[in-house]
Amino acid sequence: MAGLYIHIPFCRKKCRYCDFVSFADSSREDLYYLALISEMRLYAPLMKDKRFDTVFIGGGTPTVLSEGKLGHLLSELKNRFDIAPDAEITCEANPESASEEKLRELIEAGVNRLSIGLQSASDALLRRLGRVHTKADFMKAVNTARKVGFTNINADVMHALPGQKREDYMDTLRLLVSLGIPHISSYSLILEEGTPLFDDVNAGRETLPDPDDAADMQDDGIAFLEENGFARYEISNFAKPGFECRHNLNYWDNGEYLGLGLNSHSALRLKGDWTRFNNTENLSEYINEVGEGKLPVRNTQKIEKQEEMFETVMLGLRKINGISRSEFQARFNVDPVTEYAPAIAELELDGMIEVTEESLRLNRRGLDFQNEALLKFMDQ
Ligand code: SF4
Repeated sequence: MAGLYIHIPFCRKKCRYCDFVSFADSSREDLYYLALISEMRLYAPLMKDKRFDTVFIGGGTPTVLSEGKLGHLLSELKNRFDIAPDAEITCEANPESASEEKLRELIEAGVNRLSIGLQSASDALLRRLGRVHTKADFMKAVNTARKVGFTNINADVMHALPGQKREDYMDTLRLLVSLGIPHISSYSLILEEGTPLFDDVNAGRETLPDPDDAADMQDDGIAFLEENGFARYEISNFAKPGFECRHNLNYWDNGEYLGLGLNSHSALRLKGDWTRFNNTENLSEYINEVGEGKLPVRNTQKIEKQEEMFETVMLGLRKINGISRSEFQARFNVDPVTEYAPAIAELELDGMIEVTEESLRLNRRGLDFQNEALLKFMDQ
């Protein structure tokens, strides 16, 4: 199983909390798009032995690209890489740029999963976050997506937002349930240094919810989604049966993936070695280096077996089903329950982990205190 990620680093406007590599200035969109195609051409001969089971076009906001570009990128991708016939192909969109033409272009190019950034159904909160869309824009985007043929739709939402009340968050989830959205990603806001929101909070112009209130908000949301037929399959992800995101499951399984585009990350088995690297996050460097026929790669690291095992545990314990002991054994030739016996013994005493014949997984308490639980594996 391998995934392929393509980064589109442009947005209509920068959100106040965002520290992703994305730009509101799209003047170099054409150069970037040509560079992406060149990067695909550079990688194609190196990836000829890999089959990709998932593709994820993320951002940024991929749907801000002018018409025709996303469709062309996907056809280049399919011409140059071995993409499985039943691949899950996701594209991210934001409501303000999810026009019927754009969504039709995506579905005609083979995109079969749409991930829409809602964040909140409260227009007042959206304004405070610096989002450029409204709740009505989101509802229109969902209708349009369905009209052109999308059934597999994700909505991204956030909790622990400044000024957010429990009812605001529950209203957001109620809207998604009423619209029949089959997958929801719900992340807690992370206040990132260097963002306007960080400055506002530090200056007292904005106040984040009390951490206990934010935790209660999250608990109420989990209970509500479970009552409405969603399974929490990863700490922050909820799906109706059969709608789990295969691309992200591959990340949490510590599977192989290739990242194309600015600041994208890759993890690949190369000549037998587990290897991680990332692309430059400097747009000029990216465009120039690819233009000169060079891969814009930085920080190539060969990961030793012990570290690869640890990564597999860290990522796998994010999943509600945890780590499959037989899969771990097949990959590393050792049972994780034997390898991590001291950490597991401590977590069992703390009532945070469950070990069965098949799997190793954090229970609800372990998930609530996930960072503490994972530290035990690091410290053992
Ligand atoms: S739409 Fe997403 S990537 Fe773009 S600025 Fe907002 S949070 Fe960042």
